[in-house]
Amino acid sequence: MENVQGYIHSVETAGTVDGPGIRYIVFTTGCPLNCVYCHNPDTRKMKSGKLVNSFDILKEIHEYKDYHKATGGGVTISGGEPLVQPEFISSIFKGCKQMGVHTTLDTSGYLNNKMSDEQLKDVDLVLLDIKSMIPEIYKKITKVDIQPTLDFAKRLESLGVNVWVRFVFVPGWSDRADNVQALADFVATLSNVEMVEVLPFHKMGEDKWKKMALEYELYDVQEPSAEQTNAIRQVFKDKGLKVR
Ligand code: SF4
Repeated sequence: MENVQGYIHSVETAGTVDGPGIRYIVFTTGCPLNCVYCHNPDTRKMKSGKLVNSFDILKEIHEYKDYHKATGGGVTISGGEPLVQPEFISSIFKGCKQMGVHTTLDTSGYLNNKMSDEQLKDVDLVLLDIKSMIPEIYKKITKVDIQPTLDFAKRLESLGVNVWVRFVFVPGWSDRADNVQALADFVATLSNVEMVEVLPFHKMGEDKWKKMALEYELYDVQEPSAEQTNAIRQVFKDKGLKVR
């Protein structure tokens, strides 16, 4: 196993929202998407991050591994977009598997062919962000094409890698009825999806956009109510999917 250098924004030692149990989360930098609601626009440039070695990260993971394991947790690599640095993240995943640590990759899937089938064997779970199903809506939200993400979903199914699909519900942007229904229909065809997470839009990232003098398109969008979010969840439940 090789020690590989990579750029990270930060780590979190007790993350609770990116995969099962309590987890060590590595936030890498670099992302080819340009999502209108990005909470971390400061992580989009890879070299804006801190340069670290995979072995140093693994040393720290080792210190926490029993604690995380006892909670059903493990390690998640999130971003930015982790697949911008495939060799770096694969080195971390391989080291984790050698320590018996559960591994999760949080990705948009846009760079779907950056990791080989062999490298994906070290990934226990993928949190696959499918930000919309109708191509024009996907592009409006992310500024890139959806097809690589759909290809990745299919590839993960053929490899038997477990997936939790994540969908960010942005009122007026991603909640068009035909868009949500098309996504639910697609996800229901995938045999490896364990769960769908519907994440209501929130304004946490707004200040960062202001500070970076970026043009933020969502100033007028309100955070959805629990009732509205549950109505979106119901569309997935009606397809027999496990939803939260
Ligand atoms: S994929 Fe994530 S990190 Fe990249 S622009 Fe979208 S929200 Fe931001």
